[in-house]
Amino acid sequence: MLTFPKRTHWCGELRREHVGSEVVLNGWVHSIRRIGKITFILVRDRTGVTQVVISSKNPYYEVVETLTPETVVAVRGVVRARPPTQVNPELPTGEIEVELRELVILSRAKPLPIPIFDPELMKTTSETMRLKYRYLDLRRPEMLRNLLFRAELVRVLKNSLDSRGFVEVETPYLARSTPEGARDFLVPSRLFPGKFYALTQSPQLFKQLLMIAGFERYYQFARCFRDEDPRADRQPEFTQLDIEMSFVTREDVMRVVEDLMREAFSKTLKKELPDLLPRLTYSEALEKYGIDKPDIRFENYIEDGDENLRTVLKAEPNKAVRVLRFELRGKKPEEIKEFIEETLTREDGVRHYYVIRGTGSPVSNNEAVEQELMRSLDIGLGEVVVVSVGDYVKVSGALGALRNSLGKYLGLARKDDYAMLWITDFPLFELSVDGVLTSMHHPFTAPRPDDIPKLDKDPLNVIALSYDLVLNGYEVGGGSIRINNKELQEKIFRMLGLTTEEMYDRYGFLLEALEYGAPPHGGIAIGLDRLVAVMLGYESIREVMAFPKNKEMMDPMTGAPGKPPEEHLREIKWLKISI
Ligand code: ASP
Repeated sequence: MLTFPKRTHWCGELRREHVGSEVVLNGWVHSIRRIGKITFILVRDRTGVTQVVISSKNPYYEVVETLTPETVVAVRGVVRARPPTQVNPELPTGEIEVELRELVILSRAKPLPIPIFDPELMKTTSETMRLKYRYLDLRRPEMLRNLLFRAELVRVLKNSLDSRGFVEVETPYLARSTPEGARDFLVPSRLFPGKFYALTQSPQLFKQLLMIAGFERYYQFARCFRDEDPRADRQPEFTQLDIEMSFVTREDVMRVVEDLMREAFSKTLKKELPDLLPRLTYSEALEKYGIDKPDIRFENYIEDGDENLRTVLKAEPNKAVRVLRFELRGKKPEEIKEFIEETLTREDGVRHYYVIRGTGSPVSNNEAVEQELMRSLDIGLGEVVVVSVGDYVKVSGALGALRNSLGKYLGLARKDDYAMLWITDFPLFELSVDGVLTSMHHPFTAPRPDDIPKLDKDPLNVIALSYDLVLNGYEVGGGSIRINNKELQEKIFRMLGLTTEEMYDRYGFLLEALEYGAPPHGGIAIGLDRLVAVMLGYESIREVMAFPKNKEMMDPMTGAPGKPPEEHLREIKWLKISI
């Protein structure tokens, strides 16, 4: 067995006060510099780097000559002060260096396939290469910082929850279908051929059952699995901080989450959130910001067009005409045009117009109405105005999403400026594309008690006791007060089109549990990946996950998803079906 000197100090730890002591460092050769007859190596570990000096008289000089970057070494030596001209104030360990006494090579490294310590070259390295060699990509200081930050955030959240009387409970990943509106990942059962487990889309039903069991306050950092089509920033598995509480109202849950978030931001980022987060109802959010996840770091409210504008655009009486305006803030009209063309979502039945007025002649996407738009909207120099006509929700949504993106693009919102808020009072139901009644959150969400009489006659106007947590234009959490009454739960299932047989087949255990003493309860799930990404200013959650899948939902490193051995397929009786 290889024995080697074990570290006495971390590479980021040594200071002037250590001068004279003998130390052992374990780590990677970060860089090698040879100046005349002296060689300098920087040895690196998770905490930083330390300079190790080897003169040509050193018995290890020859071995040192063979070192390559990223080789793993154990180094023993004596700490000495650097000569004043060689002090490096940029390095925490820049006042000292270690004179080599013993060097053990623990594992040699070949030249790396990706330039991890050259930030400029890394920018041109494909994501496939980064993910294929993720263990090298994770050596980059930026990735290390991201994952250390994530771990710290989790620690702060856990401590805070523990101190508030929450109990951490693990719930199954192999379950029966758990409804969050997405497709389940299915796991074939070998013992029950033809039957499948579903990987949990969320612990929703289990956490409700824990409330019925009497746990009162539960949390879990739960992995959730959803088999959805690839989209820019979607991952098939992600982590939620899942929370549930008993004997609470919506206010109580929101207060706890506010306290938790305030503590988390203050302890990790040293940023103070307000005691009470601002709130908007769903309809207020749509009216002012177009969407239910607004970036409120800048105003630029969406406004309704006046009669004159409606006439100019020949809007039918049942259509909305809405207007979004920004200042160019130094951007060229052509750049803005390109940005709008790329960002603005197109939907059937929605018409978009824009006019961008820089110093030259206006740039627009419709010359026929350009002058009339300029006049009726009084578009000034240095302004960009986007007008959309169509269904109110679609128009608002398109302009709202554009507003969030344009605000960032034009520099109205800084990455390290945080605006968190609640959106409340969502409708309980919405109509799917095929006109079918569906839950806006999930079927276990309670309606506002006053609205229960409306369930039969006017279901689309029933408001839910739900709430979303929004940070800088991203939804980072969502939850609700749940139904704790069997009759009401059955009624909601029925309204969603389930027969008695179907609802008992799928959710019989829940309906039964509701008859054995179910306290009023509610909770929330906070998307950890998204929260960390927004806190650190990233657009993509892949930057804050250790081993994410790529945009196609596969893993270039391990090759997942892969083909299992035939024998295994035979065992689960799969071969018959698929080959
Ligand atoms: N289960 C919900 C979700 O995953 C969150 C909740 O209602 O607590 O979105």
